[in-house]
Amino acid sequence: MSSLKKILKQFAYPYKKYFFSGVFFNILYSLFSVVSVLSIMPILDMLLGGSVKQQETLAHVQEQITDGWSGWFTRLKYEFYLYLQHNIEQVGAKTFLTYLCIAVVCLFLLRNVFRYIAQYFIVLLRSGVSKDLRLAMFDKILALPVSFFTERKKGDIMIRLSGDVGEVEGNILNAILELFRTPFSILITLASLLIISPSLTIIALVVLPFMAWIISSIGKSLKKDARRGLNESGNVLSIIDETLNGGKVIKIFNAEESMRQRFMNSVLYLRKLSINMMKKYELASPSSEFLGSVAMIVITWYGGTLILEGKGMDLSSFLIYIALFFQLLEPAKTLSTSLTNLHKGSASTDRLVETLETSVQIYEPENPVELTEIKQGITFQNVEFQYEEKQPVLQDVTINIPIGKTVAIVGQSGGGKTTLANLLARFYDVSGGKILIDGHDLRDLNLKSYRKLLGMVTQESILFHDTIANNIKLSNPNASMDDVMNAARVANALEFIERQPEGFDTSIGEGGAKLSGGQKQRIAIARAILKNPPVMILDEATSALDTQSERLVQEALDNLMTNRTSLVIAHRLSTIINADLIVVMERGKVIEQGTHQELLEKNGTYKNLIDMQKFA
Ligand code: ADP
Ligand code: MG
Repeated sequence: MSSLKKILKQFAYPYKKYFFSGVFFNILYSLFSVVSVLSIMPILDMLLGGSVKQQETLAHVQEQITDGWSGWFTRLKYEFYLYLQHNIEQVGAKTFLTYLCIAVVCLFLLRNVFRYIAQYFIVLLRSGVSKDLRLAMFDKILALPVSFFTERKKGDIMIRLSGDVGEVEGNILNAILELFRTPFSILITLASLLIISPSLTIIALVVLPFMAWIISSIGKSLKKDARRGLNESGNVLSIIDETLNGGKVIKIFNAEESMRQRFMNSVLYLRKLSINMMKKYELASPSSEFLGSVAMIVITWYGGTLILEGKGMDLSSFLIYIALFFQLLEPAKTLSTSLTNLHKGSASTDRLVETLETSVQIYEPENPVELTEIKQGITFQNVEFQYEEKQPVLQDVTINIPIGKTVAIVGQSGGGKTTLANLLARFYDVSGGKILIDGHDLRDLNLKSYRKLLGMVTQESILFHDTIANNIKLSNPNASMDDVMNAARVANALEFIERQPEGFDTSIGEGGAKLSGGQKQRIAIARAILKNPPVMILDEATSALDTQSERLVQEALDNLMTNRTSLVIAHRLSTIINADLIVVMERGKVIEQGTHQELLEKNGTYKNLIDMQKFA
């Protein structure tokens, strides 16, 4: 199934009543467009004929009545004119002309009212579809594994949520509605043309397929350009994002020029693509309009000769014919634009479906085990792990974390410590061995209820552009203000929060930019404390800090760890001397385990690390 069909089935189908209402009123609009033009015909006849010539006109129309299929229109016209004649005699020509004009005005009014109603339903449809699509994309982003974001550019994801969804809302849905309306419009206009003059209409029938051919060949070559353009727009956004985030580094290293160059390359490429695309896209509508105009001129010439030679055609029919033919150009042009838009837009639906169908990778079993507390502990059992088929990052790691104990992981950078934390949080699944929680394989647990048992503080505190209170409450939105204050106190954060201009209601800026590193970290800790989980994961939570704030944060962390099961990854060994178990890792392997005292006596790698830090 094409991506377009999938998107429509999933997102437009729920709004089908708006869709069909829109189509219905659009068709009424088209119908009245033709009828309103046709309705001018008797007025023209009256005027061109003049009151004296009315009898003559009637006779002329009667003369034209022929047998055969096209004769019925002339017969109908004759009957209608007879009826008009009758009325004119009753109320007088002038008054009747007024009546006729009022009737025509009403028809034009109706046509536009229908158009407005159609647009109303279309707006309901479009806004509904784009709302659902955005939400679905956002939910997908929330559900996707951490690994997805390390591989994708942020800008690309943002363009999908904004640009591609906008394409569906703006162009694709409209195009599809037009695919329903315009063929109908073209058909009834063509039918009217055929009735008025079959011979003239042959010309139109020759031109239309030719138009269709041009349009479809343009449309097909658009999709590739559109896809490239969207990808490149993603790059542009990524560069902007990195520039905004990396302001300090760019300035200090005078990297403005190289950032500018990167941006420039992207923008130039984008320009080239959009020129390419527009060259084709903008060709569709003018070329069909030009072809249509040529057809119209040919018709005018041919019809004009017929009239001059006094053969078959009266002037009012001819004028109306031209007006109707002019009306045929609009739907023909719209149809061609819609077809090109669909081709162009399918690049967007492809990208949306691609994201929506990305596998979440972290699967839950059908009957997951609900874990509300941990009674025994956590065991890494011969755990193996690698990031996407590359070198093994963890090999045969076995660690036992009994309930209520603190286990510290130490070792060189790149040794796989953060990876252990990632596995315990189930951001990734192990490639071999297993992680047991109270004897249950982690992969058999209900992930949501399992994560309720976890808290995490990382080296880079992750804060959101919101108030201090809301950042703390993220872990427990229903917490009372008292609880929040208490958590802040335990996290050693209360004092500095109260010094902020608006206390807990102070907005901390993007990513907490208005706070110092230690302050950010203590808010992150307060957040973990407020959640009050039985298991804590601390990944180098103090290593980004200076000694002064480290002391404050370390106190906060000690408060956090009391009465909890903790996995502590530490850079500074002084902070973990009291751990119940210290695990030394090197290149993905556990090389020593024991208490501080035991490891010192062993006189191995741990002792070396301690000695090195003494000098540092
Ligand atoms: P540590 O926390 O001990 O410094 P990590 O667990 O972060 O080490 O990294 C262990 C190894 O895994 C490193 O060699 C690193 O290059 C690699 N690695 C870490 N994260 C990823 C990732 N998302 N994709 C691929 N490789 C990674
Ligand atoms: Mg790390």
